[in-house]
Amino acid sequence: MRESLIFDLSSPGRRACSLPAFDAPAKPLTELVPQDCLRQHDADLPEVSEIDVVRHVTRLSQINFSVDTHFYPLGSCTMKYNPKINDRIASLPGFANIHPYQPASTTQGALAAFELLEQTLCAITGMDAFTLQPAAGAHGELTGLLLIRAYHTARGNPRRKVIVPDSAHGTNPSSAHLAGYHVVTVPSNNRGEVDLEKFRAVLDDEVAAVMLTNPSTHGVFETNILEIAAMAHKAGALLYYDGANLNALVGLARPGDMGFDVVHLNVHKTFSTPHGGGGPGAGPVGVKKALEPFLPVPRLKIVEREALSIERKNADASRFTLHAPRLAWDYDRPQTIGKMRSFYGSTGVLIRALTYILAHGDEGMRRVSEVAIINANYIKAKLKDLYDDPFPQACMHEIVFSARLQKKQGSSARDIAKRLLDFGFHAPTIYFPMTVPEALMIEPTETESRETLDRFIAAMRQIAEEITRNAETLHNAPFTMPVTRVDEVKAARELDVNFVKRDA
Ligand SMILES: *Cc1c(COP(=O)(O)O)cnc(C)c1O
Repeated sequence: MRESLIFDLSSPGRRACSLPAFDAPAKPLTELVPQDCLRQHDADLPEVSEIDVVRHVTRLSQINFSVDTHFYPLGSCTMKYNPKINDRIASLPGFANIHPYQPASTTQGALAAFELLEQTLCAITGMDAFTLQPAAGAHGELTGLLLIRAYHTARGNPRRKVIVPDSAHGTNPSSAHLAGYHVVTVPSNNRGEVDLEKFRAVLDDEVAAVMLTNPSTHGVFETNILEIAAMAHKAGALLYYDGANLNALVGLARPGDMGFDVVHLNVHKTFSTPHGGGGPGAGPVGVKKALEPFLPVPRLKIVEREALSIERKNADASRFTLHAPRLAWDYDRPQTIGKMRSFYGSTGVLIRALTYILAHGDEGMRRVSEVAIINANYIKAKLKDLYDDPFPQACMHEIVFSARLQKKQGSSARDIAKRLLDFGFHAPTIYFPMTVPEALMIEPTETESRETLDRFIAAMRQIAEEITRNAETLHNAPFTMPVTRVDEVKAARELDVNFVKRDA
């Protein structure tokens, strides 16, 4: 399974296509492009045929890890299986081939799907209104914080601070900072939950929002959430829910009922749309009534509920009814924070999420969370004799171990992650959350079978045993991959974008 660099396949003069002879008068490049914009040397590009490219890239894709090929327990990322029916529905011409500038009267079906998704997400989260616009989780966070800023500003003071727990995903403090807030970190207690006393100490009337995820990134439920919400609201702050962990809650509990005022969801996690590798995502944001006026434009609005029905006769004399457009885009919203993204959102991703939710239904969505939680606790129970388990209570949809025992023996979380690749498993998330030393954050998701979990557990047990016998060997893992241990800092320390330049 070794694959050479595409530069090694290069042969001078070889091309993927041939163009017809030039039929316009040729001009020197220097007449067309300013001198200082012209490169001094030719670009160092591989010269290959089309089939060279196709075979090279296809082979590379086959030695990649993916959800469709491997168990992928990447904690916090919810790499669950993405049912193919989602793709099928999103590819229907009525969704895939429409243009955002088409008149709304010709896209009523797609708009109705958006409306249904907004309502469904409200029902799932306990919020009053949703925007589908944000393009990812972090983008949803920024949107949510701008909504919070607009809300406070309308009340006379945007406030200065946002409280974030020490276990938070890195995007939380970043988003708060981007929205112009000063970030205040609150530590966790020994159960991995927010330390209430320390929280009380940092809460004052300059706090605009408290950003939490529940379950937290420690994989445990914030049992004091109602008290935290009451304290925050008493201080005039709003409660922001990072919904990336909704996979543990959907159908079981609702952030809206816990006191959250603003939530974002990662539909590309909980609602099974493909993600990773920087592909498109979607981060819909839900709010309670008081924040609804600030939502991004445009908003879907119901113009008239089937006010106009025209009965007509077809050529074959069968009757059909024309309905007047019912849904339209509303731009006339004076308090809006503006636009967060081009057009209305990542349509294909959103349709996949809606398909997934409708395919499962109420009962099915609850089952998703239950099985995700059971799977994580199964792994916890089967490995906690060998791997340090920092939090005593049952976990939710993911389990955070610490490899500190293995570290003492001379190996590390990184070595364990690399060795897992040899067993055909994608590595779990490591060194996050940063509150847990040598963290191994494992999220099996509900889509994995008992057999897969047992194979993973067996691999983890074997690795722990290898470390006891000879921790040193693991420093070179993985052993069976096309690329073994790479020097992870070399590329950053010796930045050389011309590294491919080789002697002819
Ligand atoms: C994935 C994740 C995010 C960020 O979502 P993106 O879509 O990657 O921007 C935020 N918070 C948590 C807890 C996450 O797991």
